[in-house]
Amino acid sequence: MRLDRQFEENREAFMNAVETVFTHGRVLQGKEVVALEERTAALFGLAHGACVGSGTDALILALKALNMKPGAKVAVTGLTFVASASCIVHAGGTPVFVDIDADHYLNREDALLSLIESGDIDGIIVVHLYGQMMDLARVHDAARAKGVFIIEDAAQALGATRNGVAPGKCSDITCCSFDPTKVIGAQGSGGICLSDDEALIARIRKLRYHGHARNRVYDEIGHNSQLPTVQAAIINAKLDREEDWRKRRQAIAARYTTALSNIEGIQPPMIADGNEHIFHKYVMYVDDHRDDLAAYLKEKGIGTSVHYSMPLDQQPCFAGNHEVAGNLDMVADACAHVLSLPIYPELTDEEVEYICAALGEY
Ligand SMILES: *Cc1c(COP(=O)(O)O)cnc(C)c1O
Repeated sequence: MRLDRQFEENREAFMNAVETVFTHGRVLQGKEVVALEERTAALFGLAHGACVGSGTDALILALKALNMKPGAKVAVTGLTFVASASCIVHAGGTPVFVDIDADHYLNREDALLSLIESGDIDGIIVVHLYGQMMDLARVHDAARAKGVFIIEDAAQALGATRNGVAPGKCSDITCCSFDPTKVIGAQGSGGICLSDDEALIARIRKLRYHGHARNRVYDEIGHNSQLPTVQAAIINAKLDREEDWRKRRQAIAARYTTALSNIEGIQPPMIADGNEHIFHKYVMYVDDHRDDLAAYLKEKGIGTSVHYSMPLDQQPCFAGNHEVAGNLDMVADACAHVLSLPIYPELTDEEVEYICAALGEY
């Protein structure tokens, strides 16, 4: 991400957004927050949205709104950002880490189906990782039959579709992040909960501000997790660019994938059936010596990173508070081999060619 370049190209729109909010002065729960809720819900094809302070808070409040029981077991992939699972511990539950399929780094459907069948889990957080969506049709049907809730973590999938449908149709609540590293980010933190269920979103509105029901009456213990109006206004301005930026990332990804087709030992990302992949991240699979390749690219001035370097069950923060469904062999394999190339719309064509040439020379 190069927020400095993004600002240079969008200075007027962003500064106008700031000026409007500072002028009307409703810096929390202003009309721009409501506008962003409506607009994001529409983007996902869902009826209602509630902005909160971060994607992490969106997940925590979603679990609370679903009345997750203390000690509940919630399945989640072992290959994701820490927040996809730490939210479960925050809300009083236990993450049950599940392995991934080797091709797309998404959760294994058969593993989720057998956990649902066995009655061992109360809920699932499905992560649409790197910018493409997992096929949830069968998991959703099985979960409904057993009363298992589903939350879709779409923090990396804003703008993605599968067979033309955005995240949110196979779950109770969908959560998204406006972290600055995401495809649409605040100039700070932000997040949103989305659903067709009006009551669930009303509950999240209550939980995001101290359980405030009406007239200084506080129904339940809540949080203070509000998206500042100025951030909502800036995010709204960025959403005007969503399609342009998505197309640009996809063009860069296509260029990288062409370059990699001539290089042995590095596999470009695979796109799962029916997906429009938004390339939040461009994740290669490097057969051998991944860290040497990263060091070589760094020497050439090309920054790469590893998403993610450790299966979540091995992160110290999950010591003693998680379970593992079977094993996480494919997660461990991914952690040892994945490498992400720079991908953001402000990369110039020259920079993209330079990166492709550097890969070719390696
Ligand atoms: C970024 C991210 C989150 C957390 O969102 P924040 O806004 O950073 O709190 C959760 N899940 C996934 C998959 C993410 O990438």
